[in-house]
Amino acid sequence: MFERVRIEIAEACRRLAREGLVIGSAGNVSATAADDAIAVSPTGAVLAELTAEQVCVVDLEGSLIEGDLEPTSELGLHLGIYQRYDAGAVVHTHAPMATALSCVLDEELPCVHYGMLVLGGSVPVARYETFGTPELAAAVLDALEGKSAALMANHGAITHAADTVSAVDRALLLEWACTVYWRAAVLAEPKTLDEAQQRAVLAAALERGYGSTRPARGEREERG
Ligand SMILES: [Zn+2]
Repeated sequence: MFERVRIEIAEACRRLAREGLVIGSAGNVSATAADDAIAVSPTGAVLAELTAEQVCVVDLEGSLIEGDLEPTSELGLHLGIYQRYDAGAVVHTHAPMATALSCVLDEELPCVHYGMLVLGGSVPVARYETFGTPELAAAVLDALEGKSAALMANHGAITHAADTVSAVDRALLLEWACTVYWRAAVLAEPKTLDEAQQRAVLAAALERGYGSTRPARGEREERG
């Protein structure tokens, strides 16, 4: 019944593993399967080899509807995001660069590149709490206010989006932004984009339809 979304989750987990964002069973992905159902990766499974059959489907209280395995230990965090935010999919990783920065940044990853505006600009750091606890879920939910990404102190990263592919894309973008910030910080104090610069980027993106393909204007020039 939930075949398509279970395939989607398994593909997302394998893609995250290929990209080096998840190692072994560390990380989890979920997506809305229906108005009252969430598909989510299981606890303990090797994500690089995850199959659709291993993906769980739970109701909004977290009770298993479909699948044989126990859902991720961060199920409460995933369910909390769907309750509070207009999300279609959630990705949590212990990606190397994001996790490294989560161990040193106090409040946020500053907005050092305009590409980060997809994530809401600067990326907040949720305070440290033990994995799988309601305290961790509460800290991350608060950090995500107005953002689609957060770092989790001494733990990892989380992103959400309208669909699974976009949530994985944002996890990759966040890892890239963390890498840029780290490389810049090795050289000097990174410069950041201020509020006015960020607003100008959003205005320019709206005006130009940035990020989507479109036909070239006028006649195409033949080049030899
Ligand atoms: Zn984790």
